[in-house]
Amino acid sequence: MDSSSDLALTEAGAVLAAEAARFASFGWMRGTSGNLSMVTSRDPLRLAVTASGLDKGELTSSDAVLVDDSGAAVNGGRPSAEAALHARIARLTGAGAVVHVHSIAAVAVARRRLDGIVFRDLEMLKGVGRAAHHEDVVLPVIENSQDMAVLGDRLEAARNPLMPAVVVAGHGLYAWGADPRQARHHTEVVEWLLELELAEHPPGPPRHRPSGQGQP
Ligand SMILES: [Zn+2]
Repeated sequence: MDSSSDLALTEAGAVLAAEAARFASFGWMRGTSGNLSMVTSRDPLRLAVTASGLDKGELTSSDAVLVDDSGAAVNGGRPSAEAALHARIARLTGAGAVVHVHSIAAVAVARRRLDGIVFRDLEMLKGVGRAAHHEDVVLPVIENSQDMAVLGDRLEAARNPLMPAVVVAGHGLYAWGADPRQARHHTEVVEWLLELELAEHPPGPPRHRPSGQGQP
């Protein structure tokens, strides 16, 4: 690796560490969960991704790993297991940064909205570039998988080009933007929407239970 790409990775690592500390402070990256990335080069595609297994509230500028368009480490290091999905989102959407958090609201709401979550008539929808009134805005939900290729296929098939986020059922949220700041704003707005949904409609039993179970 030459010194300029070293510097780029360190600078990206500092940005990702600051973003991760913010999300960790919100309780969205508990344990060592979640991961963040930002594009450092478009052609060939290269991303700085948070390293695997670290506390996201304690990252430093040296805790990012450079990966290629398949999510594989370019110069050593151990990227997050989900790096391949970050790279695929960057390829697919043209995003410059991707945020993945394991938030309670995303998991709780997706349990009973497996076909997607519909929002409407909310001022906050402007925060993801949608109209505040008279428009149904769909946040897609996809089934989880440990295979990043399968998960990527599902994301690509379900993606709403007008919504910069997807919820993975039983897992968490992916959101993206042109740069880390916009990806952060999209993440926070979508989380707000999910928390509102949760507050207005507390979850009942998961949908897969036989009907009638637990009835008096
Ligand atoms: Zn995850």
